[in-house]
This record gives sequence, C-alpha cells and structure tokens, in this order.
Amino acid sequence: MRRVLRKLLISMRWRPLPMMTSQRRNRPRWWTVVAGWFLGQGMFEARAHQIARENAVKYERMLPREIEALLEARPVAIVPWGALEWHGHHQAIGLDAIKASAIADAVADRLGVVSLPPVYAGYQTMKPHRGFRHCIEMSATTVGGMVRDYVSQLANEGFRLVVIITGHYGRRHVDMLRFQAEQVAEEVGVKTWVLAEYEVVKDLGYTGDHAARWETSLLWHIAPELVDLGLYREDLTGDEQGVMGENPAETASAEDGGRVFAAMAERIADRALAILDEPDQSKYVPWKPTPAPE
Ligand SMILES: [Zn+2]
Repeated sequence: MRRVLRKLLISMRWRPLPMMTSQRRNRPRWWTVVAGWFLGQGMFEARAHQIARENAVKYERMLPREIEALLEARPVAIVPWGALEWHGHHQAIGLDAIKASAIADAVADRLGVVSLPPVYAGYQTMKPHRGFRHCIEMSATTVGGMVRDYVSQLANEGFRLVVIITGHYGRRHVDMLRFQAEQVAEEVGVKTWVLAEYEVVKDLGYTGDHAARWETSLLWHIAPELVDLGLYREDLTGDEQGVMGENPAETASAEDGGRVFAAMAERIADRALAILDEPDQSKYVPWKPTPAPE
C-alpha cells in the first residue's frame, strides 16, 4: 500500500518533506506522506522542486533525462571561459569567468539549452604581461588542449553548436581559443562560435576594458558583493593598479552593467540560433596517407 502510494506521489513529482522521513529507515512513513498531502506541504515542496528543476540549465546540476530533453529540442551548449587574474584592488580575481558564466546562463535560459560550468583557464594574464599577483597563468598548450577537448566531447555528446563565451580577452588568448576550437570543430563536424562577450555590444559603448568602467559595472550588476570601489586607488594610475580603461570610481554603475548584460544575453542568443540554422559549411577534408609508390 505505502509503496504504491509513494510511487504515485513520486510519479506526480510530489516529494515528502524531509521532516517526514524516518532517519532510521531513510524512507518516508506512508502516513506522514498522506498527512503532508492533506496539509498541502508536500504539494508546495513538490512545486518548488519542480520549478527549480525546470529552470535548471546548468549541465553539472542536470539529470540525464533533462539533458537529453534539451539536446533533442535544441542541441546547443554554451561554455563560459575565463581566467583567475588580477582585476584591480577593488574586484574579485574570478571576474572574467564569473561574468561569462552569468551571461552563459542567461543565454541558455532564453534558448532552453545547456550551459556548462565556467572554465577557469586563462592564457596571457596580467602576470606575464605586467607582473601582477594572484594570476594563475596557463600555457597556450593547456588552454588549447582544454578547448579542443570541450568542443570534441560536446560534439560526441550530440551537441551541434558549441558557443564559447570568453570573459578573458587578451588578443592572443582569444585568437588561440578560436583557432583551436575551429580546427577541432572541422575535424569532428560541429559548429562553433568563439566570442569575447563585448563583441556583440560595441555599439553600446562596451568595447572591452580591463577592470575599468565596464568590467566593474558588469560585476557590480552580477555579484555586487564582489566589488568594493572603496578599495580603488585614486593615488595610483590605472596602469599601476592593473586597470585599463575609464576610471571605474567615476564611471562604473550597476545600471550600466545591467543594460549591457541584458543586451549581450539577447544578442548572443539570437546569433546562436541563426548559426544553428545555417547550412553546414564544413570544408574539412580528413587527412589520408599518400599511397606508397608501386
Ligand atoms: Zn577581465
């Protein structure tokens, strides 16, 4: 009787409250399930659970069948990329990937597709460039290998388009990501789009900076607790404190961050859909050994 009732409740996505679970048996007592049902608690809990899961687009938090459903509907994966890198005295070290991850989630939400966990692997950080601390500089070989594996593995899983949003955008880092991703994409037959997030909103004034007006505004919008403009050093030049662009203490705002964030999410989503619908342009010809002379 209680097994049948429990199965019925679970099939309706109704879960008993934790307090209704017997610790000894780690299973709900059937009468608590019925009581919870009448009290409405189970119903509320189940609804909250259902809403939380329906909003889940993050690959690492999804159940297999949820990934499979999204894959079937729209086989696009969004991979946020960043570095662990100095971003002024006033901001968290993970800014690039935190920013890219929030954008990736917003894009994935709009499209009903999967977003992956942020990849913290940056080449050409502020350490070799300017000698700043707290940067984990990765070699081009490591970063290139990782992007190749992500693209080929996501293709192997059935995704037809892999969008890589890099929030870390030293020119050599972006070129290398793009080159490696596009090369392996041709080899395995998948579409890929590598972009630094600002590329789609240059008309709004964000043309890419480093820890200055725009990156500060974005992080302020996404995670205000990770920004402390009181620590910005007015006694130092921007270069001296690793800030390249407009003085954030005078120009940054969460509102500006929110505005470009929304525009990026919308435009990246639209472009990703267009790329998915484009005919396949692959020109890759697999390498064949030269026949031995007779
Ligand atoms: Zn940055």
